[in-house]
Amino acid sequence: MRKLIQGIHRFQRQYWSANRELYRRLAEHGQFPEALFITCSDSRVAPLVITHGEPGDLFIVRNIGNFVPPYSEGAPDASGVAAAVEYAVEHLEVRDIIVCGHSDCGALKALYRDRSKFAGTVHFSRWLEHGDRTMAVVAANYPELTREERYEITSEENVLLQMENLRTYPVVQKAAKEGRLHVHAWYYEIGSGTVYRYSPEREQFEPIREEE
Ligand SMILES: [Zn+2]
Repeated sequence: MRKLIQGIHRFQRQYWSANRELYRRLAEHGQFPEALFITCSDSRVAPLVITHGEPGDLFIVRNIGNFVPPYSEGAPDASGVAAAVEYAVEHLEVRDIIVCGHSDCGALKALYRDRSKFAGTVHFSRWLEHGDRTMAVVAANYPELTREERYEITSEENVLLQMENLRTYPVVQKAAKEGRLHVHAWYYEIGSGTVYRYSPEREQFEPIREEE
C-alpha cells in the first residue's frame, strides 16, 4: 500500500503537473475515447502502457480471461461487459473495439485444470464457463496437439471467439453495418512486449506494424 500512496504523490508532482492542460480539457469537456479496449484483469497487461496512450484515449473493460458473454435478450443484469459495449458504441461512439488477450493467461490455464478445485470460489468457477466454448473449439480443431500446445492456441482462439460474441450485440451489428465501427482481435505477448493483431485475410496473428 505504501508503494501506491507514494506513487499517487509522484503522479501529482510529475505526470499531472506536466499534463495540466490535458487534465483541464478532460475535466471540462468529458471523454471522447478512440476505442473500447477489452482485456484481461491480469496485472501485467497495462493497456495505456502498451499503446503508449494518455488518459481519455481508451474506454477499458477488464475481466478475468477477457471474456465477452454473448448478447442475451431479457437479461439486463447479465454482465457489466454488455453494458460497457452498449455504452461505448451508442453513447461514446467509439470507432473501434479491441479484444486483447495475452500470453500466460491464468484464466485460460484454469480452464484446463480440475475445476473442482475452484468449488469454494463459486463466482470465479461460474465465470470460467465462458471459456468452455473456446476449449471445445480448440479440442475439435486441434485434436493432435498436446495439452501444452493446445493451451497456447487457446489464448488466440479465445480472442477470436470473444470477437464473434461481440458481433451478437445489436449495437455492434448496427454500427458495423453503418461503417462507423471496426472490431479487432489483439494478442499481447508479455515477455517480448509484442502486440499481434489477427489478420482475417491470412487467418493468423501477426505483429502490428508501425504503418498500420
Ligand atoms: Zn489473463
